[in-house]
Amino acid sequence: MPEGDVLRRTAARLDAALAGQVLVRSDLRWPTAATTDLTGRTVLGTRPYGKHLLTRLDDGRTLHTHLRMDGTWRVVPTADARAAARHPRVRAVLGTVRWTAVGSLLGMLDVLRTRDEHEVVGHLGPDVLDGDFDDETPGVPWTGAPVLEHPVPGLPEAVRRWAAQGSRPVGELLLDQRVAAGIGTIFMAESLFALRWWPWAPADHVDDPAAVLRTARALMRASVLVGRPDPKVHGRAGRPCVRCGTRLRRDEVGAAPQQRPVFWCPRCQVRGAPTR
Ligand SMILES: [Zn+2]
Repeated sequence: MPEGDVLRRTAARLDAALAGQVLVRSDLRWPTAATTDLTGRTVLGTRPYGKHLLTRLDDGRTLHTHLRMDGTWRVVPTADARAAARHPRVRAVLGTVRWTAVGSLLGMLDVLRTRDEHEVVGHLGPDVLDGDFDDETPGVPWTGAPVLEHPVPGLPEAVRRWAAQGSRPVGELLLDQRVAAGIGTIFMAESLFALRWWPWAPADHVDDPAAVLRTARALMRASVLVGRPDPKVHGRAGRPCVRCGTRLRRDEVGAAPQQRPVFWCPRCQVRGAPTR
């Protein structure tokens, strides 16, 4: 499932192809947007927020898309046969004279006024990759205007939201986009392993939530800038822990029907406060 790092890369790819360009083709294969025509509009840019993408147009509208589980946005030359985008999985096509962006298996799609973007992302917590999330570590450079103005910078706001979650298991909390946006199962597992937190530790027992969020941010930031690193625990069930050699496990966090996989080391991540 795409996480915040993938959304940043996707937005950058869309910007490289579409930003500042006039759309000569617009094909939204979505029941509520099928008659919407964006042809003739200039694309201002695509702003990622958590796992959402907001493609802004010069007429005050925004195309909002979400990759959900398997969605992708690919860019191909308009002259290429793939730009025809005939596959039934295609949900959106935005074409300029030179490049065509093809969105497949998108989980959400709607066109709204740019000033109403808060209606689709306003429930989310601060984006962990945003430049203003944390003063101590640089964000991923981003030129787009902010989507949401949080009352305080991102990290303190996310920590405040974390504190309101009580004793919820920390692994489950990290996946909750209303606390902090952008973290998925990979960076949840990798962050907890890095700091040796048991994935089911009650969130209010975690002595330094900011450290956990900063770790997720640092791992995701590195992924955007230099590519996804080899995971230390995610997807490695049954294989030896890189730190202690113990066989890693795959279990689940979250209540039915929202369970999500979590990979962890039963020796490095014991119940109770971590020993470092
Ligand atoms: Zn271990």
